[in-house]
Amino acid sequence: MYTIAQLVGGVWGAGGDGGELVVHDPADGSPVSTAPVATADEVGKAAQAARGAAAEWAATAPAARAAALHRAADAVAAATDELAAVVTAEMGKPLADARGGVEAGIGTLRQYAELAPLRGGRTLNGAGDALDFMTPQPRGVVAAITPWNDPVAVSCGLLGAALVTGNVVLYKPSERTPATGWLLARALDGALPAGVLSLLTGGPQVGAALAAQEVDVVAHVGSTATGRAIAAAAAGTGAKVLLENGGSDPLVVDAGVDPEWAAEQAALGAFANAGQICVAVERIYAHRDVAEDFVAALVRRAGALRTGPGRNPDTELGPLVDRRHRDHVHGQVAAAVAAGARVRVGGEVPDGPGAFYPATVVTDCRHDMPLVREETFGPVAPVVVVDSYEEALRCAADSPYGLAATVLTASMSHAQRAWRELPVGTVKINSVFGGAPGGAAHPRGASGQGFGYGPELLDEFTATKAVHIEAPAGGHW
Ligand code: NAD
Repeated sequence: MYTIAQLVGGVWGAGGDGGELVVHDPADGSPVSTAPVATADEVGKAAQAARGAAAEWAATAPAARAAALHRAADAVAAATDELAAVVTAEMGKPLADARGGVEAGIGTLRQYAELAPLRGGRTLNGAGDALDFMTPQPRGVVAAITPWNDPVAVSCGLLGAALVTGNVVLYKPSERTPATGWLLARALDGALPAGVLSLLTGGPQVGAALAAQEVDVVAHVGSTATGRAIAAAAAGTGAKVLLENGGSDPLVVDAGVDPEWAAEQAALGAFANAGQICVAVERIYAHRDVAEDFVAALVRRAGALRTGPGRNPDTELGPLVDRRHRDHVHGQVAAAVAAGARVRVGGEVPDGPGAFYPATVVTDCRHDMPLVREETFGPVAPVVVVDSYEEALRCAADSPYGLAATVLTASMSHAQRAWRELPVGTVKINSVFGGAPGGAAHPRGASGQGFGYGPELLDEFTATKAVHIEAPAGGHW
């Protein structure tokens, strides 16, 4: 059992007068960690203390900040086994996936440590006796509010980019993964000057108190509803808001594709991390010509997944994060069935401990069902049969969200239409999770705003200043 401490003003163990929260292992209900809950007053004091540390960190040479981030990455690497085990214990994902998330986070820290000192501004072509340039500067105090579904990878992105560009950071990890956030903050803090990183723990009220502070940036990765509440709070303080929020990513299965291969892609996209990935496949539009064979293959794959606690090495499908979330997932499935959809495999809440939910394939879905239109965030693959590629593209595009989309097709013209026409940040052709390193996109609509990843995230955490210098009295220095 982990007992977590907050980090405020460079001091571990500060505050926590708002009570205590306990996290339970979603595989068996056993307690994993207990965390203090910050009061609004403590959040305010942490923001003040962070402001006090901001100028010195901003003035530290970029190369020195990068060296600190490299040391931080080393410390996270040394804690990989423990971090992965805690991720699995707190939110349930299979241990190999948890380790993959930690390794991805370490990679991101190192990339930002390499890239940040290389990024400068521009010189301008002004008058011959003047000096004109544009230069990026740290924004100041960043509040980073993160989710539970891939807690190390997501946090390392925001924290690494914000810190290496010279900002001080108030970090509020999800209340479902506080021990993960605490282990990560301990590793980072050991490599940074005291006060540069703060850790506040607790639930939505702590996040809301943080978003209401006089900070310079609020960066939130999480649900759309929370992102909107944060944007509203930041409108009152003038803080810049970066939002990487929910999605309902479509998968289009075009006529003429191999149904077995399409089912393999769909199963990976819909069932990995029990569907709890922002870019999970949330809805499938299958061409009528291939739909029957595709669904049969998908049902076989769903039924064959090995389900169990994430700590078992052969588990492919772990539990959902908790029973409250399972109720949400099952509620959407049950509502679709009540509206005429048909469960082909899964779809029942199992007896026994934990928050398990089976890989589920639902057919006879309509595009207007909440199971199809809303984010489910569970291991559920709803299939809508379409009569043409046009219909598939039209349905895929018709969504409040705009995160990502995948199209499986052997037609180059269909692939070209997909990337040109779909109103989403990321389009993937013939691979649900592919992509080159450093790729970053703008989420659209209800999926958020601003770059949340890649080198562009470094720019989000800096403010560009234009400078014009002339000699005094139009003469000489
Ligand atoms: P969430 O928004 O409920 O919680 C995320 C964080 O926000 C937590 O730290 C939480 O305490 C805090 N929070 C909650 N209410 C708040 C409020 N009113 N004000 C300020 N902070 C508040 O999200 P979650 O359930 O932890 O994560 C799942 C969601 O995250 C899904 O919707 C998923 O799609 C999304 N997600 C998006 C991306 C992306 O890159 N687009 C990546 C991962 C997860």
